[in-house]
Amino acid sequence: MQIQELVAVGSKTTMRIGGQARYYAEIATKEDAEEALRFSKEKNIPLIILGSGSNTVFADGVIEALVVRIKADKTSVEGNQIRVEAGKNLAMLINELAKQNLDLSALTGIPGTLGGAVFGNAGQGQKGIWIEYYVKDVTALIDGRWQTLPKAACEFKYRESVFKHMKEPLILWEVILEVPTRDRALVEAEVKVLLQKRIETQPHIKTAGSCFKAVGDTPAWKLIDAAGLRGTKIGDVQIAEKHANFLLNIGKANYEDAKAIVKKVKKTITEPLDVEMRFIEPDGSLAF
Ligand SMILES: Cc1cc2nc3c(=O)[nH]c(=O)nc-3n(C[C@H](O)[C@H](O)[C@H](O)COP(=O)(O)OP(=O)(O)OC[C@H]3O[C@@H](n4cnc5c(N)ncnc54)[C@H](O)[C@@H]3O)c2cc1C
Repeated sequence: MQIQELVAVGSKTTMRIGGQARYYAEIATKEDAEEALRFSKEKNIPLIILGSGSNTVFADGVIEALVVRIKADKTSVEGNQIRVEAGKNLAMLINELAKQNLDLSALTGIPGTLGGAVFGNAGQGQKGIWIEYYVKDVTALIDGRWQTLPKAACEFKYRESVFKHMKEPLILWEVILEVPTRDRALVEAEVKVLLQKRIETQPHIKTAGSCFKAVGDTPAWKLIDAAGLRGTKIGDVQIAEKHANFLLNIGKANYEDAKAIVKKVKKTITEPLDVEMRFIEPDGSLAF
């Protein structure tokens, strides 16, 4: 594993906001993961885990941390059981499995890695299918020890998992999925339909997906819309016209503008809203 200094990390996220990491590495083996953990402890800096950065924005300037991108993506299929490393791109996985008559199509259109998806129990909306539906167990470096958690111990709920509440650093490494059999042609047709639906209803360029998560039953986008905030701009950050829970970078958006728009939404809306997107401060801590 090679640790580099002052590497641009904002440009590695889908929203393209943020500056450089003091230290940066790409890791592909369990030994790399252990070494990254040791390095961050020695330097006494946070270890920040990055999948594809499709739900992350970094502060501008230098982030005083070791940012580690998970590149491990080995996949093996045995019947309906799929062993996959956390750096695997979810869309690639869906396509590869379809070729083997395995159906993970419900997760179509969610950018990012398998690790990111498991961390946040990514999936369809509140009443849809989430990744937990397929998870059998998860192997991770937790508190410096390799552990395998069966699905029940992952405590999945809507966009929630036990991992979100663990003391950092946590590195999800490998997941065993159980994926149902379905004819390849049917799976591929379903993927096409779901992608088309996404294109019609959501922006997909320079955004990090849904920014907020409603605490109650009303979806966040409905609350934002009802408050008249759809289309609101601060600097070059805009609440998308197409989907009121998506923030867009419409030019040269910066971190402070992105934070300001989140604060405005939270201040305007009286119902409680959680911030789902990850905002990383210059000292490596989370803004919200
Ligand atoms: C256009 C668009 C549409 C989207 N639609 C959806 C949707 O329909 N449903 C949905 O759920 N999400 C959606 N998202 C959000 C995003 O795709 C998901 O949150 C995704 O799972 C994030 O994966 P990532 O690898 O990019 O994570 P990152 O942004 O890199 O990280 C997100 C979080 O996961 C953690 N993480 C990632 N990998 C690991 C690992 N190996 N070990 C430990 N922690 C890890 C990070 O520490 C961080 O806290 C959308 C995003 C975009 C841009």
